[in-house]
Amino acid sequence: MKKHNFSAGPCILPQTVFKEASEAILNFNNSGLSILEISHRSKDFVSVMDEAQKLSLELLGLEGKGYKALFLQGGASTQFIMTAYNLLQNKAAYLNTGTWSTKAIKEAKLFGEIDEVASSADKNFNYIPKGYSIPSDADYFHCTSNNTIFGTQMKEFPNSPIPLVCDMSSDIFSRKLDFSKFDLIYAGAQKNMGPAGTTLVIVKESILGKVQRQIPSMLDYQVHIKKDSMFNTPSVYAVYVSMLTLRWLKKLGGIEAIEKINNKKAETIYNEIDRNPLFKGYAEKEDRSIMNATFTLTEPKLEDLFNDLWKAAGINGLNGHRSVGGYRASMYNALPLESVEILVTVMKELETQA
Ligand SMILES: *Cc1c(COP(=O)(O)O)cnc(C)c1O
Repeated sequence: MKKHNFSAGPCILPQTVFKEASEAILNFNNSGLSILEISHRSKDFVSVMDEAQKLSLELLGLEGKGYKALFLQGGASTQFIMTAYNLLQNKAAYLNTGTWSTKAIKEAKLFGEIDEVASSADKNFNYIPKGYSIPSDADYFHCTSNNTIFGTQMKEFPNSPIPLVCDMSSDIFSRKLDFSKFDLIYAGAQKNMGPAGTTLVIVKESILGKVQRQIPSMLDYQVHIKKDSMFNTPSVYAVYVSMLTLRWLKKLGGIEAIEKINNKKAETIYNEIDRNPLFKGYAEKEDRSIMNATFTLTEPKLEDLFNDLWKAAGINGLNGHRSVGGYRASMYNALPLESVEILVTVMKELETQA
């Protein structure tokens, strides 16, 4: 039976990508070799890395604007450390919108003073704080564009007087933004771009080289830039599958095309959450994420029945994160609208059966 995969990450990727990626394990580019056994310095792989970097910048509209794209290891969690290591001299400003921002703040505190400009912790992160101001004497401002766990998303970004750093792990390549507003963007691949194992970093070169401290090579953006993401062995396969996913996105019409589909999916589920008296949305309406819809049952006694219904419909990965409870429908780029429609049908069915 075909599964409808709402998993929050690692998550669904395009079926055509799964197919191509599996073929490359047996015979990569008709070389008679598996992609798993070739050198990362081989011509074939160097061209994969080049294409992945180029497509990343191209899809974000950042080509020729002073940015570099890197594919690093250690997940977005290592970026919590790397951003501070490379950019934080005295003080940095952070917006706290959830679990991931909280973790980023904790790491950055190892390097200097942190000014938490605003936080939505008072309501268990069900909204995005607004109206805060960014101190111009800080080294950078850090925010999280989409809060994967709580299902909130920043719809607008401040005009920051200092470099703007953003964790876009769970909504990169999902919607149109003026990406040139950002000086550093990072994203673990496994939420919307590829498999786990690589992390995309887009950095404006002009913001680097300003801190006084010594930076270990593996944590130094300038080292990775100089070596074109090949300072050490990169995650060859994860980069390859990410590149295939970016190719798929470009062929589809890029971010503009996928955003229309993503908006449609989000509208479909939120309309049902708002209409159906058995469900209640978790996030404040104006801050709702188009990637992760969080919701709970209004009658907890229906939990077993609802769980049986969605599992029987072939739905996977709908359980909410433990810090929110309830349900979370993650609707990343590769999730078809049809899967969301199936979920809505199940929600209506619960109403009939309850
Ligand atoms: C998943 C996630 C992370 C952590 O990513 P890892 O690659 O597991 O380190 C960080 N930030 C956001 C917004 C996430 O969704």
